[in-house]
Amino acid sequence: MKNLVVIGGGFAGFWSAISAVRQARFLDKDPLLKITIVSLDEYLSIRPRFYENKFEDMRIPLRKYFDPLGIVLNVGKVVRIDPKKKNVFWVGSKGQQEEVLSFDGLVLAAGSQLKCPFISGFEHAFNVDTFESAVRLDNHIRELSAASFPLPASRTFVVVGASFTGLEVITELPERVRSFALPGIDYNFILTDRSSSIASEYSIDGQGYIAEQLNKEGIHFLPEEETDLIEPERILFKSGRCIETSTVIWCGGLEASSLTKEFEAKRDPLDRLLVDSFLRIESHESFFAAGDVANGLVDEQHSSVMSCQHAIPQGKFAGHNAVNALFGKDLISYSQPRYVTCLDLGSRQALLTSGWDRMPQLTEMPAKILKTEIVTQWIIPASDVEETVKMSAPVIRTNEADLAC
Ligand SMILES: Cc1cc2nc3c(=O)[nH]c(=O)nc-3n(C[C@H](O)[C@H](O)[C@H](O)COP(=O)(O)OP(=O)(O)OC[C@H]3O[C@@H](n4cnc5c(N)ncnc54)[C@H](O)[C@@H]3O)c2cc1C
Repeated sequence: MKNLVVIGGGFAGFWSAISAVRQARFLDKDPLLKITIVSLDEYLSIRPRFYENKFEDMRIPLRKYFDPLGIVLNVGKVVRIDPKKKNVFWVGSKGQQEEVLSFDGLVLAAGSQLKCPFISGFEHAFNVDTFESAVRLDNHIRELSAASFPLPASRTFVVVGASFTGLEVITELPERVRSFALPGIDYNFILTDRSSSIASEYSIDGQGYIAEQLNKEGIHFLPEEETDLIEPERILFKSGRCIETSTVIWCGGLEASSLTKEFEAKRDPLDRLLVDSFLRIESHESFFAAGDVANGLVDEQHSSVMSCQHAIPQGKFAGHNAVNALFGKDLISYSQPRYVTCLDLGSRQALLTSGWDRMPQLTEMPAKILKTEIVTQWIIPASDVEETVKMSAPVIRTNEADLAC
């Protein structure tokens, strides 16, 4: 019997485990393979939707898929990995004693988390990194509304970070806050960044379109402001500027899980492990990494980015290759030449770009409809378990339906 351990039940881990089932069946090795997944909770969390306030479909129960396929789910936190002795150490969600899992093959898919800077009062900031933090923000807005947004500070919303997530958060807020429809209240929506531009990773045309949408929504951009202090009712910048606000939402970027440091292998500035074309962790024959913990080349020049677009296919390739490595079969190379982004910009706007220069391809309502389809259908597994197993084949197509967000 071979033991394959997958760490993480997000997009990359989910698809690794399902793809491993499919490939083991194909090789007629399924009776000889035990797949165990360790994850912090029992859900595949749809993180790209955490800036919304419709929480019903944002988490998909993993056991619905794993139980019928014989995948063992251990809910808990991996605290340590011993790559030499091939052991994973984990603690159950109720904080029981540390347990050990031995493995023959490993897929690390522990994802990313919000980068938390050393800023005094950072605990007062909200974020949309996890389901719990998204619910905390929503409860906070509801409390402010229940009290009729009593202070000027409670009517001012500040988002720090003018990149992808910060833009999705700030452009969703006006409609969300105004949905409480308290007459005669003026709200302030402010986006800040320490850099001088909005969405600097976009083409000039893309940046122009985004800036136009912010203007239309009455969102004010404050460039070149570095946060110094956050308090319950204000944010202070190093420039000396102070804004009275009860709601600071931190969107200052992600970093890979610290479990990447358990391997003697090179990491990039986001702490992601450099992987080879088979998604193998450098100098480890049967250890793979996929999703936000992995930096793999998607074409001859570009590295994968932290996105579902790359995490989902990487998961499928990593699960497939992990099984092949365990049973002495050839591995297949991962590549994903087409790159798109679809940025939500409020209730009636979005921006689809294509290519690494992020040139606009589609805007307004057609792009918004596409964005909604992507996050509610395309990145979601099929409801039928066996259909999902079929979907786990590591094939990169280039048609629209294969683009994630
Ligand atoms: C607000 C927001 C909006 C986003 N919008 C987009 C978007 O529009 N388009 C897009 O493509 N991407 C978007 N992303 C990024 C996207 O969500 C991630 O790239 C994607 O979730 C990565 O998948 P993953 O499986 O690698 O990691 P994750 O989804 O982070 O999953 C990691 C898994 O590992 C588990 N885990 C973590 N640590 C441990 C541990 N120590 N032990 C055991 N289990 C552990 C977690 O429980 C989780 O199940 C967004 C992210 C956020 C936060």
